[in-house]
Amino acid sequence: MSLRPTLDFLLYDWLQAESLNQRGRFADHSRETFDAVFDTCERIAREKYAPFNRTVDTQEPHFDGEKVILPQATHEAQKAYAASGMLSAAQDYAMGGMQLPYTVEAAANAFFAMASVSIGSGLLTTGNANLLMVHGTDAQKEVFAKNEFSGRFSGTMCLSEPQAGSSLSDVTTRAVPDGEGFESDPLGPRYRLKGNKMWISAGEHELTDNIIHLVLAKIPGPDGKLIAGTRGISLFIVPKKLVDEQGELTGVRNDVALAGLNHKLGWRGTTNTLLNFGEGKYPVKGEAGAVGYLVGQPHEGLRCMFHMMNEARIGVGMAATMLGMAGYYASLDYAKNRPQGRPIGGGSKNGTGAVGKDATQPQIRIIEHADVKRMLLAQKAYCEGALALELYCARLVDEHHTGEAQAADDARLLLEVLTPIAKSWPSEWCLEANSLAIQVHGGYGYTRDFPVEQYWRDNRLNMIHEGTHGIQALDLLGRKVLMEGGRGLQLLAALINTTVERAIQRPELAAHANALAQALQRVGSATKAAWATGQPGDALANAVPYMQAFGHTVLAWIWLDVALAALKRDATKTIAATTGKLGAARYFYHYELPKVAAWLKVVENRDLTCADLPEEAF
Ligand SMILES: Cc1cc2nc3c(=O)[nH]c(=O)nc-3n(C[C@H](O)[C@H](O)[C@H](O)COP(=O)(O)OP(=O)(O)OC[C@H]3O[C@@H](n4cnc5c(N)ncnc54)[C@H](O)[C@@H]3O)c2cc1C
Repeated sequence: MSLRPTLDFLLYDWLQAESLNQRGRFADHSRETFDAVFDTCERIAREKYAPFNRTVDTQEPHFDGEKVILPQATHEAQKAYAASGMLSAAQDYAMGGMQLPYTVEAAANAFFAMASVSIGSGLLTTGNANLLMVHGTDAQKEVFAKNEFSGRFSGTMCLSEPQAGSSLSDVTTRAVPDGEGFESDPLGPRYRLKGNKMWISAGEHELTDNIIHLVLAKIPGPDGKLIAGTRGISLFIVPKKLVDEQGELTGVRNDVALAGLNHKLGWRGTTNTLLNFGEGKYPVKGEAGAVGYLVGQPHEGLRCMFHMMNEARIGVGMAATMLGMAGYYASLDYAKNRPQGRPIGGGSKNGTGAVGKDATQPQIRIIEHADVKRMLLAQKAYCEGALALELYCARLVDEHHTGEAQAADDARLLLEVLTPIAKSWPSEWCLEANSLAIQVHGGYGYTRDFPVEQYWRDNRLNMIHEGTHGIQALDLLGRKVLMEGGRGLQLLAALINTTVERAIQRPELAAHANALAQALQRVGSATKAAWATGQPGDALANAVPYMQAFGHTVLAWIWLDVALAALKRDATKTIAATTGKLGAARYFYHYELPKVAAWLKVVENRDLTCADLPEEAF
């Protein structure tokens, strides 16, 4: 099974990605140049990533006392990725980039996520460098970002601490000015950092010459105390090895030490680390304290970091989607080849065929059983729908950056509302797809002889990192749908209604269009009902069911719009892919959308069953 036809259809037939070439920034590009990027990425993913997905799972990173050891295949794969230019794909030509639309970059990265998500495709490095391109000084861009884009250095994001995960206001890493003249360091105001950072992905390895940590830390007030809350947080560049103004390594190791590797359920191709900053293991100029350079203004760290986190969230959604897709393709292949059982109602002489028990009849392949088809269609609906959503959000990023003023602003606001869905929906439902892929394999799916159990383990991370499911839901109902007087939700509703109006004209889609209009209306009224008392405790007690209902409504919209595009491309419905798209849309409307009503009921009623249960009653 190849991803390419699905990707081509979504990009070119549905999203009209080719039309981006009419914008000045992308004027040198054409469908041919986009396709050339996809060809290259597809090939590298096939040759350097896919064959080693199991290797990186079984040969977990380990520390030999001096260095972290990773399989050679990881070194080769990341070298090939950097050589392809993908780390700087969307950057200006002046930065050595290709000025590709983000839509194309995101689509191209899908091949790597599907082939081996944990070998990694530089998401953190690109996100880290992109942040510096927006908030860094010229010197920081030149010395750090440019070397990250070339693949010479890699990047991390260091937010979490052992005691501060979801609640970043509680970070306790401190940053104090580094002596006389600290403000005039050419690489930015220089501080010394002390603290522990937990869960840092790619925090230690030998894959690149240097690792550039972006670290959240607090600058103490005049009384020496840390400012409470997120207001006190600042952002620092902390390189593992110190560099000069030209980005050359000075030979001095910075005071950042690996305290330990975390041993994970999945995603084992990437290290995950506890890092100690400034404990004195590698003193700089005889002093404990990791040298860090301030990015942006003091106390603006979280705002800067959000720049990286929003991109990272679309990346997480795409990774979850592609893990789901990998499981779908594997289980589809298995179902087409596994003979088991007999057809229900297949006529037989002794009458036992009605329940498929007539052993004199030949076995059928499991794809011929209705229930297996149900599991395959669910996976298709979840994963292709999620892919469409991620590409749509990526297209909004391009609109935000290159559109006309009003369209760009609308895209910004739509992204605010859709980002929690883009991150969370695939994390939940493409994980469910992986579970169904195991189920299709029966007992074999539960063994390491087949790849699907690894996809599930790898995918289980996505509901946890980059803001847990619960935190994303609070963000959606507590902030995003309310911001700017609810204009984001109104914009989304207008888009959905446009699709409804188009679909209602098509007999095969009219019932879906009506169902979507009702779901949308219910989401709107549930949003109001949740906030009717004005008490956050009432409104947010059921934030996750709200997000699930919201997400399913968005996905129903996406499927209806995709179905319209499929019918437009193939009015005669002769292409099997069109039948598949319409079938997946129908599955979504018949089996998934009805769940919205149940989820929203507890939201509308401000049901406090969970919130009110006393602790001792559990
Ligand atoms: C493999 C892996 C890679 C990671 N990579 C990075 C990285 O590169 N950089 C980085 O900085 N971090 C990283 N993280 C950390 C990740 O972002 C955190 O694990 C996550 O934010 C949750 O924090 P926590 O683990 O402390 O859990 P907690 O915050 O303690 O949450 C535990 C549970 O309580 C719930 N909860 C917490 N607060 C609330 C609330 N206010 N309301 C409702 N429910 C709540 C959560 O939803 C969750 O279900 C990574 C984590 C993992 C597992």
